[in-house]
Amino acid sequence: MITIKSSQKLFTEDEVSSLTGICLDHLRSLARSKHLGFLARAAEAAGAQAEKWLFTNSDLMVLSVLFTRCQH
Ligand SMILES: [Zn+2]
Repeated sequence: MITIKSSQKLFTEDEVSSLTGICLDHLRSLARSKHLGFLARAAEAAGAQAEKWLFTNSDLMVLSVLFTRCQH
């Protein structure tokens, strides 16, 4: 079980990855296949567009219950 601040409503993919132990590659494929989280487009300094996933705290709970940390 993971503990999060209840005041925090949104989590970046990096935060979710470190909280759940699920690597970014698996996290993104889980998000797509399970319809969890949503894509936010972050404008990089160089002007390139980077895809970033954002997750709500309920998405985070589902991920932490259904999926175990990566073992690779
Ligand atoms: Zn993984």
